[in-house]
Amino acid sequence: MKMQINGKAVEACGGEVFGIKNPATGELIEQVPHGTEEDVVFAVEAASSAFASWASSSPQQRAGVLYRAAEIARQRKDQLAFLLTQEQGKPLVEARNEIEGFAHVLEYYCGLAGNLKGDFIPVPGNGYAFTLKKPLGVCAAIIPWNMPALIMGWKIAPGLISGNTLVLKPASNTPLTNLTLASIFGEAGLPAGVLNVVTGPGEIVGESLVRSPEVRKISFTGEARTGKRVAELAACGMKRVTLELGGSDPMLVCDDADLESAAAGALRGRFYNCGQTCTAVKRLYVFESVAEEFIKKLEAGIKNLKLGNGLDKNTSMGPLNNRTQWEYVKELVAEIKEKDTGKIITGGKVPEFKDSEKGYFFEPTLVSDVPGDSRLLREEVFGPLLPVVTVKGLDEAIGKANNTCYGLGASIWTKNIDRARAGCEQLNAGIIWINQHLKIAPEVPFGGVKESGFGRENGPEALSEYLETKTIMLKT
Ligand code: NDP
Repeated sequence: MKMQINGKAVEACGGEVFGIKNPATGELIEQVPHGTEEDVVFAVEAASSAFASWASSSPQQRAGVLYRAAEIARQRKDQLAFLLTQEQGKPLVEARNEIEGFAHVLEYYCGLAGNLKGDFIPVPGNGYAFTLKKPLGVCAAIIPWNMPALIMGWKIAPGLISGNTLVLKPASNTPLTNLTLASIFGEAGLPAGVLNVVTGPGEIVGESLVRSPEVRKISFTGEARTGKRVAELAACGMKRVTLELGGSDPMLVCDDADLESAAAGALRGRFYNCGQTCTAVKRLYVFESVAEEFIKKLEAGIKNLKLGNGLDKNTSMGPLNNRTQWEYVKELVAEIKEKDTGKIITGGKVPEFKDSEKGYFFEPTLVSDVPGDSRLLREEVFGPLLPVVTVKGLDEAIGKANNTCYGLGASIWTKNIDRARAGCEQLNAGIIWINQHLKIAPEVPFGGVKESGFGRENGPEALSEYLETKTIMLKT
């Protein structure tokens, strides 16, 4: 598996490589080039050379290529899902959903190809004006390891359809599915140089890309801390930036909620992808009158989750993706036990099953009696830990939910329209769900407020992130 530059597989300068390991077994799956600054220069030059021709093709021609790529990805869904599970750890069923989501986002933006048009504006006094929508040039897409295929789609679909060329930097833990998907674009007829992929460390490949004078926009998804660094570097070159950063989504369960459905929503919301989703349910605020019953339902649901290698068809939760996250989750739980800062209702340890010691497994864990200053509530916990906090009513729940530096998503579970409306109006987040959590669709704008970032992906909004408005004024 090699980098894709100028539409071709290439070795890194110097020929250095690094290994990609399966997080469930520790086995080496593949090696990829350890990209350098020179590789970034090479990829940006390829993207820059390809720009004029791609930008002058019609949106419908570009849509033709993206449709074909979506079709091929669907045809190879099973192989791609297998590769994604191998490198990321998620159960096969989730990996298949992700590949399906990738194809769907491509198709959605193909459908918007006809929307890439400006406006006509009559101007008082014998004249008129119109606007043109122009692509920006070379754009960089930097993506994380939790949903590498889907997030690749979120960036390259609006970027390519609007006539930009791209250089993609995958996460170093999960570059294989991205590289395979990029090669599919070549098969689909994407001209050489329009989409390039450079693998290698964020500090080298990512930063060189952000610094490159030819790169006009950076779409970054990852941690808030890295996002700040990207924003700082991009500011020096006056570049456009979209930042999709971390979240600590609260879920509010009122006393009139359908508790059965809320419990199912909380379990899926927290433990999907082993808790490694930016919009996972990371804090649960439950009215105290229903808390005991609700916690019992959660506990029963957690006991039904089947932890194991994602390639095993019975698995409903795989391992964490990497050692850093695994150590972090273990440290948080050890601290709770040591300092008595929460009651572990179920889970709380590394599981023991055949070969479990080879992977980054941790039991799905439910913690109650969590104090307000707990790290579980203050930090973005990317793992299978669910803290439950009881509240007296809605005002307290909303106040506590908003007491965070993040603002990605939030959900409120109630049958009462006034409560639902209060949640929509007062919860400070980019996306609010009512009686659901985690549902994301390419048709719907997605992004955060506060330290969860700025700019929007998905929906028609994402197109404007990749287009410049050029105004033409005519005097007649
Ligand atoms: P990181 O911020 O560590 O890495 C994200 C990407 O940035 C990787 O490709 C990484 O490369 C690269 N990178 C690292 N350092 C730099 C740098 N200095 N300059 C440029 N690029 C750099 O995040 P994770 O991969 O750990 O992903 C998890 C995070 O992503 C969580 O916080 C999660 O909430 C967030 N996320 C947000 C989403 C959203 O839409 N809001 C969606 C999904 C995830 P390398 O891998 O080589 O280090």
